Amino acid sequence: MIPFDFKYYKPGTIEEATDIANKTLKKGKKIMYYAGGTEFISMARMHNIYTDAIIDIKGIPECNTHELKNNELTIGSTVTLTSIAEQNFFPLLSLTVERIADHTIQDKITLGGNLAGTIIYREAVLPLMVTDSDIVIANTYGKKRIPLKDIFDKRIQLQEDEMIVKVIIKEQFLSLPSIHVKRTKNEKIDYPLITIVALKDDIGINFAFSSICEYPFRSSSMENFLNDNSLPKDERIKKAIDNVPDKILNDISGSSEYRKFMFHSMLYEILTHFEEVN
Ligand SMILES: Cc1cc2nc3c(=O)[nH]c(=O)nc-3n(C[C@H](O)[C@H](O)[C@H](O)COP(=O)(O)OP(=O)(O)OC[C@H]3O[C@@H](n4cnc5c(N)ncnc54)[C@H](O)[C@@H]3O)c2cc1C
Repeated sequence: MIPFDFKYYKPGTIEEATDIANKTLKKGKKIMYYAGGTEFISMARMHNIYTDAIIDIKGIPECNTHELKNNELTIGSTVTLTSIAEQNFFPLLSLTVERIADHTIQDKITLGGNLAGTIIYREAVLPLMVTDSDIVIANTYGKKRIPLKDIFDKRIQLQEDEMIVKVIIKEQFLSLPSIHVKRTKNEKIDYPLITIVALKDDIGINFAFSSICEYPFRSSSMENFLNDNSLPKDERIKKAIDNVPDKILNDISGSSEYRKFMFHSMLYEILTHFEEVN
């Protein structure tokens, strides 16, 4: 049972949703946008979260868009992980979301919920990072399309009234050579020990990482080392690992020493993969 009362709204448009958010916030009350509800319900039941109002955005048509049109793939924020995998417009994203939670929960978890939620891994952001994707966010003043790299710094930087409407990926990236590698502590279905996605474009191999630090990231200095073919593979990897931008995670899934060891072997596997597909 959820141990507090809250107002439930189900707007049909973005304007209505952001208007409710704005008016409620102005009264000094807390709001939460609500998509799959998997995180909200479990955290509320455990007394880890409180809100005065829930704004359920699943009825907003633009948030449910899922189409390839005018050389761009648009995926609405309330599209579920199951639907992303089944439609499979972008195989790298499909592989990534198919390894988040289990089948039953994938049917509820949404793309926007994974990007905006509090669980630190946010693995669905990785394929968006390596494809220089854009994100559309909305508030009472309207909508804006922003490069993901300008709004995702450790987590998505949203104001209290702002919501994610959709993400946009350029078609040219969808079928480029790519790989997804996820290691867990024990079971196949689990939080990541480390997840890496990599995609090769005209310039080189782009990499994005989850569960190395406390947030997902892409690093140009690490990419420069990993793409420096003048150096032996082991040295490129060692230099890249020396340039991880923050403390390496040390938690119940694995110590930082173990993660470092596993990170080296995963990067080796990925570089070898791209040599072989060349
Ligand atoms: C059993 C289980 C296993 C999991 N395993 C993994 C894993 O291995 N890897 C991983 O990356 N994640 C994992 N997760 C996290 C999961 O992917 C999601 O982060 C999460 O459950 C939220 O998705 P949701 O759509 O249900 O969001 P909700 O519960 O509806 O919302 C979560 C938060 O996001 C905000 N939000 C949702 N949509 C929007 C939007 N459009 N705009 C702005 N804010 C929004 C809400 O306000 C709320 O704060 C797991 C979750 C569960 C329950």
